[in-house]
Amino acid sequence: MDLNRVIFHSTDYHYRSLMPAVSGLLDRLGPLHIGSGAKVLIKPNFLAPAKPDRAMTTHPMVLRAVVEYVLQRGAAPLVADSPGMGTFERLLREGGYAEALRGLDVELRPFRESIQVDIGEPFGKIAIAREAMEADAVINLPKLKTHAMMMLTLGVKNLFGCIVGLAKVQWHMRSGVNRHLFARLLVQIYRAVNPAVTLVDGILGMEGQGPGRSGTPRRMGLLVAGASAPAVDMAVCRLLQVPADELPTHRAAVELGLAPRDISISGKFQPIGDFSLPVLGPLTFGPRRLEPLIRRHLIQRPAVEADKCRMCGECWRHCPAQAITPHARAIEFDFDRCIRCYCCAEMCPHGALAAVETGPAKAIRRLSALRDRVVHRLDRKGSSGSKGSPH
Ligand code: SF4
Ligand code: SF4
Repeated sequence: MDLNRVIFHSTDYHYRSLMPAVSGLLDRLGPLHIGSGAKVLIKPNFLAPAKPDRAMTTHPMVLRAVVEYVLQRGAAPLVADSPGMGTFERLLREGGYAEALRGLDVELRPFRESIQVDIGEPFGKIAIAREAMEADAVINLPKLKTHAMMMLTLGVKNLFGCIVGLAKVQWHMRSGVNRHLFARLLVQIYRAVNPAVTLVDGILGMEGQGPGRSGTPRRMGLLVAGASAPAVDMAVCRLLQVPADELPTHRAAVELGLAPRDISISGKFQPIGDFSLPVLGPLTFGPRRLEPLIRRHLIQRPAVEADKCRMCGECWRHCPAQAITPHARAIEFDFDRCIRCYCCAEMCPHGALAAVETGPAKAIRRLSALRDRVVHRLDRKGSSGSKGSPH
């Protein structure tokens, strides 16, 4: 398979159009080695129980089309993930998966156990789902979504779900305040899992303050497929007119030699010029001794909309830093403990949490924008003056 090749295909979620679109895409990518009896892991984005129209999870019809494709080749598909919250049964029911996959000979379950895999420095051995490491082939099925910490969650990021349960939380703790380190971790997990194919569900994607309920669904009508997840992620950046260098996982993939220098794109797509990216606060910058101060006052923080909060407890149960305390009618954040991983915003089933800019950070951003405008104006004046000069 050509690792530089990425294919776009316009379609919708209707079975009649989606099924040929998915099988056509997978066939065009080249031979997938999934002969009779092969164990194929299909790894969707199963973030949390959510209806498909929230665009938080891979659409059930895309999953169905891929499962059918695998079954038609005589292979044995397993659909598994490690959802951030809710039971797997509830996720299958609310997400429409139980209904969409009814009657198909496919196993659906959470990852059960992990094995230690050396993913290289600086992380060494980490626990990755056995099913991901022992499958004959892995098909990676991310959703095209924004992510308040990593900007976009696409092919590379989707494989973080192969870290099972609480181990995910521990890795957030270890690298959650360092976006670059977290991006490296994601890329090294991608390298270890090594999916045969990445197929992004961008038919109904998400923009704004994703990846949870604070994001805004956006219809794009596209599937994007390739053998290399970093190449697919680069192609999605082109679609969204976002410089790939701004994507932390892309920068880490370049460093590790896993991002192609260039990609060859086939299939038509209309670049989306007005895609709304999340506001990303820097996670670490400045002198180390000032880090706690900077983190407390300048880095965007989770905030709750009190009228939406139902005190369900998902956020404080899942907060890796135990930075959320429930009171009688409201929750309280300890911003000294909070590592700005935004898991709580991801998890909140009622869309009550979002990552927001702090007042001082907003003021600094506005001041620096003003300064840039003034400098730009002075530059233009200077250059028009020199144009008219006889010298
Ligand atoms: S903020 Fe969201 S997750 Fe936390 S208690 Fe309120 S409704 Fe539940
Ligand atoms: S409060 Fe939210 S953002 Fe902060 S550490 Fe906990 S889950 Fe992460």
